[in-house]
Amino acid sequence: MPPLEEYIEEIEGLWDSHILTNMGQKHRELEEKLKRYLGVRHISLMVNGHMALELAIQAMNLTGEVITTPFTFASTTHAIVRNGLKPVFCDINSEDYTIDVSKIENLITEKTCAIVPVHVYGNICDVDQIREIAVRHGLKVIYDAAHAFGETYKGKGIGNFGDASIFSFHATKVFNTIEGGAVSYSNEDYGIDLYRLKNFGIRGPETVDFVGANAKMNEFQAAMGLCNIRYVDGEIEKRKFVFHCYMERLKDLPGLSLPLQQKKVKNNYAYFPIVVWEKEFGKTRDIVFEALAKENIYSRKYFYPLTNTYDCFEGQFDVKSTPTAVHISQRVLTLPMYADLTENQVDKICEIIRKEARC
Ligand SMILES: *Cc1c(COP(=O)(O)O)cnc(C)c1O
Repeated sequence: MPPLEEYIEEIEGLWDSHILTNMGQKHRELEEKLKRYLGVRHISLMVNGHMALELAIQAMNLTGEVITTPFTFASTTHAIVRNGLKPVFCDINSEDYTIDVSKIENLITEKTCAIVPVHVYGNICDVDQIREIAVRHGLKVIYDAAHAFGETYKGKGIGNFGDASIFSFHATKVFNTIEGGAVSYSNEDYGIDLYRLKNFGIRGPETVDFVGANAKMNEFQAAMGLCNIRYVDGEIEKRKFVFHCYMERLKDLPGLSLPLQQKKVKNNYAYFPIVVWEKEFGKTRDIVFEALAKENIYSRKYFYPLTNTYDCFEGQFDVKSTPTAVHISQRVLTLPMYADLTENQVDKICEIIRKEARC
């Protein structure tokens, strides 16, 4: 969180203007700041990351099947289903846990309309291959970039790939606006649709020509963003330090996969996922999770369960079609990761993990 006085200063003017929402000054100011920070041409701010994704998909006017992965947060799959589209699950690769591009084309049918890949943990998907496949088959690409705020690939802001990308500014993410999100998009025309979709389809005072939702980012959210954007580079620097502390202390342990450091990618160090291979490590992921929990350290089994095994989709999907995702989700654990985590705390966490490895 930013210094309290700074937030108060940022919101003070709202008591004079009485404009609390509806694309007010803060909203527009943050839109400009984020456009610059993310290095993208077009952006539309939303009330949260999920609505950003749901409306980004809706703006493409799609019908049929969408190729995506089950190794993600509920939001990705739900956004597809809530648009009346059918998710077709592609497996992930075992290196960076993003969509396995070698398996996409086998899943394409005459009903396929789009690909919704996820930059999991800030690991960037193979955007070059995905672009090629999409062009060859005439598919839209909407990236779930909720984890990839501020990242670049080959020096280009990550929001520039695909037809659109969505970001989440939820309190748990690298950059927050309390709750919030954004769509960055390539084609200027999407901007008109996104604006109408987030504001009831209202075009003018007497014209409503679109069945829109309400997904506007309000002024208090935007003010939080205006404060936090000043600190985000420093926060990412501190996260980088934590990341390397973990790497240093865990790198020699057998049976642990540590996060991949991708080439040509500027990372945001949002997460520190480890994968526990029980045969070589000696213990299962769940035992490591419990050992940490006993010391009041809350790691997360993130992403477990897979979205294609959710109760709400019972009987609809065959989890055997995504075996790598099954393997990883049963073994992955994301360790505590935030800017103010101290070296001593990382020591303590790693000591608990090392103790499990030894016996
Ligand atoms: C956080 C997240 C979202 C949704 O974001 P909200 O802002 O919480 O609605 C979508 N996809 C992924 C992968 C996320 O982690």
